[in-house]
Amino acid sequence: MSRRPYIGRFAPSPSGPLHQGSLVAALASYLDARAHGGQWLLRMEDLDTPRVVPGAADRICQQLQGFGLHWDGPILVQSARNAVYREAFDRLTHAGHIYGCGCTRKEIADSVLRRDGRLPDGEIPYPGTCAQGLPPGRHARAWRVRVPPGVIHFEDRWVGPQQQDVAADVGDFVLLRADGLWAYQLAVVVDDAAQHVTDVVRGADLLASTPRQRVLQRLLGLPEPRMMHVPVVTNADGQKLSKQTGATALDPARALDGLREAGHHLELGDIVRTEVAGWLTEATRVWAARWVDGA
Ligand code: GLU
Repeated sequence: MSRRPYIGRFAPSPSGPLHQGSLVAALASYLDARAHGGQWLLRMEDLDTPRVVPGAADRICQQLQGFGLHWDGPILVQSARNAVYREAFDRLTHAGHIYGCGCTRKEIADSVLRRDGRLPDGEIPYPGTCAQGLPPGRHARAWRVRVPPGVIHFEDRWVGPQQQDVAADVGDFVLLRADGLWAYQLAVVVDDAAQHVTDVVRGADLLASTPRQRVLQRLLGLPEPRMMHVPVVTNADGQKLSKQTGATALDPARALDGLREAGHHLELGDIVRTEVAGWLTEATRVWAARWVDGA
């Protein structure tokens, strides 16, 4: 079977500048694209407007360029694509896959607590309270997709085989939020298809999102990209490096050091080069030897 030409992407949220953790995801997706002779696209995931920081998108672009990570083609900006997400949402609605939900977060937490006597870690599975229609006197706050029963399986190139019963573990999830914003899960699936992305390479913090994205790809009849989730960078306390845990912004003046550190994290070993372009070329060769069939 001939594969579609490789298209990869890096999809930062402009909630602040890139840090060493985001560099690992950027570098891994860049190297995988270049090692396959493919394209590497850039997408600004700026839908969560309360978290968007003015100027962060420009800063991210400057940082990528300073680290020699040059993307292909125009940048896709999610905030300009409301009509496209609306169209996908309407398609799901007409097919009967969407319903309005009047529950607050607290009500969902309380009902799960009542049912199980305990709260699961992290995300709370939606118990389906509004699935058969809104209770009297309630109005829709958010809009959820009905998750079909069954286990989703996929192969992750880094982590190995994965599976999740999304209906049981997550429940019907939100596509249009109570604050009127499109959920990440919908936008990412629509945009990966619109950009003809064949390969998603990103941080392992998003591994648990993939089964939900597969659910949406199947309901919308969209292709399912190959997946690779690379290990996230943690700080001394074992927390994922993020703006919230105080990660410092990448400094293009120290690009080679940052790349070397990211390369070690991605198990590329020592790549001895004294300038950025040469380092990236050699890193692409090492990546190809490990991850590209027949390279
Ligand atoms: N925008 C997401 C983030 O910055 C990444 C989305 C993705 O790669 O699918 O965490």
